[in-house]
Amino acid sequence: MFKLVVEEIMEDYPRFLTEGFKPFNPLELAERTAKIVTRPGAQGLERKYTRFYVVSVYGGIATGYAVGCCLRCFYCWSNWSRDFPEKYGVFYSPRQAALNLFKAVDECKRIGGVDKLRLSGCEPTVGFEHLLDVLKYASESKYSLFILESNGVILGSNAVYAKRLAEFKDKLYVRISFKAATPEGFTQRTGALGSFYTLPFKALKYLLDEGVYARAAAMTDVRVMSRGEQSTLIQMLDLIDPDGNYTETLEEEVIYPYNMSVKRIRAFNDKFFADKLVKNILSGGI
Ligand code: SF4
Repeated sequence: MFKLVVEEIMEDYPRFLTEGFKPFNPLELAERTAKIVTRPGAQGLERKYTRFYVVSVYGGIATGYAVGCCLRCFYCWSNWSRDFPEKYGVFYSPRQAALNLFKAVDECKRIGGVDKLRLSGCEPTVGFEHLLDVLKYASESKYSLFILESNGVILGSNAVYAKRLAEFKDKLYVRISFKAATPEGFTQRTGALGSFYTLPFKALKYLLDEGVYARAAAMTDVRVMSRGEQSTLIQMLDLIDPDGNYTETLEEEVIYPYNMSVKRIRAFNDKFFADKLVKNILSGGI
């Protein structure tokens, strides 16, 4: 039954962007993706992850790699679970996810790391109730900080999400990753309809209004964003968060030639390569 439902949802499901793509509604994509990457379980809403591991960023942090996203950035370095969420990842209950993070952070300690937890990967706010339950476990744990990395689309769609996250603000830091400061730039880079480009800005505002510690990062690589748009972005952020001093503090991202990014960029420019890639992945060749 679940298999049949998944097959229906996957019909025309947006994968990586290719030339002439049709812009999509990212909130609709979030809903469709949630149907693939979450399912009800005996211990709360289960969600798919590809792995739990330790990375060196933030001075060492345990990370849960969440499956599925509501954007399709053409340079994205996330694994194929972004485009093919039906094929990748394993379901974990909120408790299992939290325990896996704790286990990973303990291993991190053994190698001289610190006591931080993070959900990252694709978009961890897809399956929001699961996220809240993981946060509940984290807030009751001995670990000091929980970092949530998000594209801000879901969080900006309704102030209620920030309100719910604020229940955990003692240990929570939210990093919103901005993709554009114009509707055109948003569509070109993410594949989503331009009218949704303000959602990450709203997310930052809603979180700050609730007293949640939140900051902005942005993909400002000069190869994809003009300096004019970069200054517009900083001005928009400064309006929302005048104390943020984003001219100095904006965490600027650049495109690295990671394997995933290179393949997605090539697929964006080469339809033949893109078609072959989809076939390969769906047939289990990758
Ligand atoms: S928002 Fe992040 S995970 Fe999603 S497509 Fe863009 S870069 Fe990839």
